[in-house]
Parts: sequence; structure tokens; C-alpha cells
Amino acid sequence: MSLLQRVKNVVRSRSIHVCFVDVGSCNGCDIEVLATLAPRYDIEQYGIYVHNNPREADILLVIGAMTPQWEDKLPALWERIPEPKAAIAIGNCPISGCVFQRRDTYVSAPVAKFIPVAAEVPGCPPRPTEILSAILSLAPTVFKDFEERRR
Ligand code: SF4
Repeated sequence: MSLLQRVKNVVRSRSIHVCFVDVGSCNGCDIEVLATLAPRYDIEQYGIYVHNNPREADILLVIGAMTPQWEDKLPALWERIPEPKAAIAIGNCPISGCVFQRRDTYVSAPVAKFIPVAAEVPGCPPRPTEILSAILSLAPTVFKDFEERRR
């Protein structure tokens, strides 16, 4: 790998743009994600920036048990995110449906059936430190893999 490429990877891995989407949660995970992105954890010290626009995102945080209304919308939103990109399932709901996964409920979990999920953060809800740790450990691999695929 050239020096320029290495510098580029280092810079990009320290400039992580995240976007989050709630596809049907109880709001428990929303609160933890918002706490993670709030000033208390000072995420900009790690080079993490929050966007509501998927076109500016690198990492999509998905929260919730996936209601049928999201079955088409989530893949469409995923397509709008430019490469390199990755999705993280936050909480038990997008991983398994959690408490909503019963025969008489209308949830379509797991979200991995609809978009590729690169990492999962289990918990009901997970802690902000676990969410932060998942973003920081995933981001460098996303950029590295993308550059290697392009070569
Ligand atoms: S994982 Fe638990 S806290 Fe998070 S949305 Fe599902 S039920 Fe709520």
C-alpha cells in the first residue's frame, strides 16, 4: 500500500460520519444512542460526526424491531448511503426482535434480512460505551476493506 493510501486511510478512519434510523423501537435504544451522540461522551474527540442525511453517512446505526412499513424504506435508505458504508444493529430488537418477536406481533426482525449488517451491539438497551466501542472498532475496517477492494 502506498504512503498516500495509508495517509488517506488514517484520515478517513478518524472522520466517521454516522446516521441513525429507528425502524420501530420502544425508544429505550433511542435514548442510549442519543446519549452516546450527546456532549457527555464528546464523540468528536474520536472524529465521529452525526448526520441526518444518509448521503453524508459512513455508518448507519439501526434501532428497533423492524415494522413492516420499513421493509421497503430501509433498503432504499441504505442504497442512498455512498460507499464505503456499514450498518450496525443497536440493541436486541434489530438482531432478533427481542420482546416484540412473538407470533401475534408484526415485526420483521432481524434487519439483516433487509440490509447487510456488519456489527451487532446486543442489549436491551446496550450502553453508550458499547455503542461507541462498536463504531470505533468497525470504522477502520470499513475504510480499509473499501480501499483494498478498489485496488
Ligand atoms: S432492544 Fe430493548 S430497549 Fe432497545 S428498542 Fe428493543 S425493547 Fe427497546
